[in-house]
Amino acid sequence: MPSLLTHADKMQFIDGILAKDSKVILTCKKHAYSYGTKKPPVFNCRDCTMVSFVGLMCNTPPEKRQETLEMLEYSVNKLIEADRKGELRKQKFLARPEVTISKE
Ligand SMILES: [Zn+2]
Repeated sequence: MPSLLTHADKMQFIDGILAKDSKVILTCKKHAYSYGTKKPPVFNCRDCTMVSFVGLMCNTPPEKRQETLEMLEYSVNKLIEADRKGELRKQKFLARPEVTISKE
């Protein structure tokens, strides 16, 4: 399929994104969610999840990205496995975490 943009147009666009002072904000259009804001992503929305994952990778130092990606892949696979076994319960995700503080 022929591209509407020339190679020079694409390079100019990429240069604009990578310019020192430019800022790219990925957003889920359906839920107006963007990474790093106080508003939480919608749990079962693909676009919110994509924004979360890409945001996390962009904010991870390059030398740690492979490790972070493997951790995400492992976690997602565990969730899929748990869902297949019927072990996922929504209320567990919504419950407040218990936090205990102890002195060493
Ligand atoms: Zn969303």
